[in-house]
Amino acid sequence: MYAIAIHGGAGAMPRDRLSPEAQQRLHAGLQSALDAGYAVLERGGSSLDAVTAAVRVLEDDPQFNAGRGAVLTRGGTVELDASIMDGRSLRAGAVASVRHVRNPVELARLVMEHSRHVLLVGSGAEEFALEHGMSLVANEYFRTEERARELAIVRAGSRVSELIPVPGGTVGAVALDRDGNLAAATSTGGMTNKRHGRVGDSPIIGAGTYARNGVCAVSATGHGEAFIRAVAAYHVCLSVEQRGLTLEQAVREVLHERIGALGARGGIIAIDARGNAVLEFTAEGMFRGCRDSRGRNEVALFRDP
Ligand code: ASP
Repeated sequence: MYAIAIHGGAGAMPRDRLSPEAQQRLHAGLQSALDAGYAVLERGGSSLDAVTAAVRVLEDDPQFNAGRGAVLTRGGTVELDASIMDGRSLRAGAVASVRHVRNPVELARLVMEHSRHVLLVGSGAEEFALEHGMSLVANEYFRTEERARELAIVRAGSRVSELIPVPGGTVGAVALDRDGNLAAATSTGGMTNKRHGRVGDSPIIGAGTYARNGVCAVSATGHGEAFIRAVAAYHVCLSVEQRGLTLEQAVREVLHERIGALGARGGIIAIDARGNAVLEFTAEGMFRGCRDSRGRNEVALFRDP
């Protein structure tokens, strides 16, 4: 049994404000990320390689808030956060506030595999990237017209959901491979108009990302401050492992009770040790998909298909 699930962010995304063409493009973007990750699992690759491959595709797709097309800070620049966790060894790697790394998930993985650390930030992370042969890109590479418009709208005081020039959000992937290894990864530009230096839950192990073999792998999206305070991803795993909750019960409890009690909303994708995927959200919609070796292959944008 092997399986992968992905998300492209949860949030306010009314169906009637997204043209059929825009919905079609989002669908296609999600499906190609899902297929890239699934292809790795199908040929016997690891869950770590699968989540890296899926997230890389979403980072390169300007529709989503990660890598190219990420949201802008109040200063009009892009600052990216990402993390990855290996459920087999409990090793983890993360980067935050990087401005010149094309695929932050790959740098997070380098941190995990080639440093003694878990989280590197800013210029220190980029120095590490250079030392390991990554080339850096100009910050303008990430910036799109749509995100510049979105920043202007937010600064003028309207909510992004009222106009939605680019709906896609934070991205993430969770996977189980043929050997029973679980992995999770998350990547984001954070929140539109965020303060320079603000870091959300996505690169925080236990908040936005967590994986433990035999239990589950988790990637979250939503209001990052609440997910950090709820230690959301870890709480899902802990509830499955120690309280005997099903993965679905654990995910629902975190979203509806813990995150909800903090006045926030969002979404979680998770996969358990048997390859069952849960894709749950309390926001209006969550861009998502899952595919497994039993034949499940689904991509969806809104609550109802
Ligand atoms: N969780 C992300 C953050 O707070 C944002 C999101 O998922 O929409 O940085």
